[in-house]
Amino acid sequence: MSYPQLIFNLKNIKNNISEVKKMCDEKNIKIAGVTKGVFGDLKISKLFLDEGINQLASSRLNQLKKFKNKLNAQTLQLRIPMLSELDDILKYVDISLQSELEVLKALNKKASKKDLIHKVVLMVDLGDLREGFFNEKNLIDVARWVFKSSNLKLAGIGTNLGCYGAIKPTYENLKKLSDLATKIEKNITKKPLEIISGGATTSLPLVIDGNIPEKINHLRVGEGILLARDLCDFWGYPTKKLSKDTLSIKAEIIEIKEKPSHPVGEIFIDAFGNQPSYEDKGIRKRALLGLGKQDIGHHDKLIPKDKEIDIVGSSSDHLIIDVTKCKKDYKIGDILDFNLYYQAMLYSSMNPNIKKIYKINQ
Ligand SMILES: *Cc1c(COP(=O)(O)O)cnc(C)c1O
Repeated sequence: MSYPQLIFNLKNIKNNISEVKKMCDEKNIKIAGVTKGVFGDLKISKLFLDEGINQLASSRLNQLKKFKNKLNAQTLQLRIPMLSELDDILKYVDISLQSELEVLKALNKKASKKDLIHKVVLMVDLGDLREGFFNEKNLIDVARWVFKSSNLKLAGIGTNLGCYGAIKPTYENLKKLSDLATKIEKNITKKPLEIISGGATTSLPLVIDGNIPEKINHLRVGEGILLARDLCDFWGYPTKKLSKDTLSIKAEIIEIKEKPSHPVGEIFIDAFGNQPSYEDKGIRKRALLGLGKQDIGHHDKLIPKDKEIDIVGSSSDHLIIDVTKCKKDYKIGDILDFNLYYQAMLYSSMNPNIKKIYKINQ
């Protein structure tokens, strides 16, 4: 056995896919399974297909290419594309999110040369200030252009909230999206849009509360299935049917010593250019683990399964924990278990130093 390890609990992830799907099915909402948070892991992506979700989404083309080549899935590109990606988009992506006419024109030209039809979803910025049309007239004009284009199909419109501006999805802002969809259907397409995509995991509370505008028929869900942590821990939505024990990291203890909690000497600059401050709690029993920022991003994105452990800090390759309160008498070589928040999942799943283990039965 070598450590650290990233453990995927396939049964619990499968359970979460099925529960979120059930929740959304009741509201006639289709889900795109977003697996960019686990580096587009094929085993995890396939679980979505097994549960009847046939659309897989990622921000990264190399992951979408993998889905196209290895799985029988419809692919959705989440990050609006670079001009330099358009050839590959036509090869590996069925539907792309878009917000620039210049890109759409270039894509249409390439699609026409290859005699392909490519579906696009136009993104609307409802205030979060990442991608999307901010101006309604601009959106409508481009929607009309796409509708009339030779080789693009206007599949629908969508929005993204909560990622940059931390704007909360609400009935009100999603109603704006749904009204824009109505306008486009009435004035341009003369028939219902296939996709009206109301956001990501953070839109799930509206589904749970039965408060999502009726026209919203699509969500792109990653974290809410893969970890199911954020809604519960940050939004106050404990979703009892979802398992929070989906992914965990196992790491090995490499040193245990009694040391003061406050560094000795003049506190200057740490390995990442910050000047930290420390609480003086006297002498503590501390353990050092072979896991660091390079593996997980930041130590505050780890959740120890032993609740008596306090995470103290980390450097690139070391995690420092306080085990003074622990009932268990930890020894060198012991293996500790942590659940993860998004950043730790993102970093660890793409890390070649971390062995991935797929746990099937429990
Ligand atoms: C990452 C991403 C998602 C999925 O977000 P989760 O919070 O993991 O559900 C959805 N849409 C877009 C555009 C994204 O970039």
